[in-house]
Amino acid sequence: MNIIFIAPPAAGKGTLSDKLVTKYGYKHLSTGDLLRAEIKKENDLGKKIEEIISRGELVSDDIITELLKNELKSIDGKFILDGYPRNIAQANTLNGIFSELNIENYVTIYLDLEEELAMKRALGRVICGGCGASYNTYFENFMPKNEGICDKCGSELKHRSDDTEETFKVRFSTYVEKTSPVLDYYKNLGKLEVIDANVESDEVFKIIEEMLGAQMTLKK
Ligand code: ADP
Repeated sequence: MNIIFIAPPAAGKGTLSDKLVTKYGYKHLSTGDLLRAEIKKENDLGKKIEEIISRGELVSDDIITELLKNELKSIDGKFILDGYPRNIAQANTLNGIFSELNIENYVTIYLDLEEELAMKRALGRVICGGCGASYNTYFENFMPKNEGICDKCGSELKHRSDDTEETFKVRFSTYVEKTSPVLDYYKNLGKLEVIDANVESDEVFKIIEEMLGAQMTLKK
């Protein structure tokens, strides 16, 4: 069963995806990660993407769709889509890509999260520049053992440049305006599951496991 996560910013899609990758062998496709990888290339496209992301706005559908399509084509096995679709046009495009690639087996999971908590998660989030592990300085269970240093690989922890209060507010309102209509789209297709994500990620993970249980096979 393939999974599409739809959620406000900082709802925990990345953390949950990591758990699903480790235990069930999913391939994690994050459009945010794809875009950040483009930024690292330091070419014209990367610079354009960086400006848009740091304003909290959405990157154009053409750019993101092209990046995603290439990734989806090369996937062999089950996947998690994190960060796409983010508006109705992208949902329509994804439907087309799924038909083209004969992908029918999927569920859309909406992680429902209050704005105040989402902001706290975003502003406290720090990410390892070495291995990509994520921590949160506002929540005891998610703090690194030594401030600013990754527990796993010892590299430096950094804030994402779009995890500022100002950018978060734009990201959240972009989500409400552009992304939340996508929920009705999947509800009408009979493909929507809703989870209360105002609890710790371990609990959300358990709910997903109970929900999809028989439809997920353990990693071999
Ligand atoms: P979050 O879900 O925490 O906001 P992401 O890593 O998913 O973070 O996305 C970061 C940024 O990348 C978004 O704010 C947006 O600018 C851009 N982005 C990601 N996915 C898409 C998409 N499908 N369409 C347009 N822009 C996107």
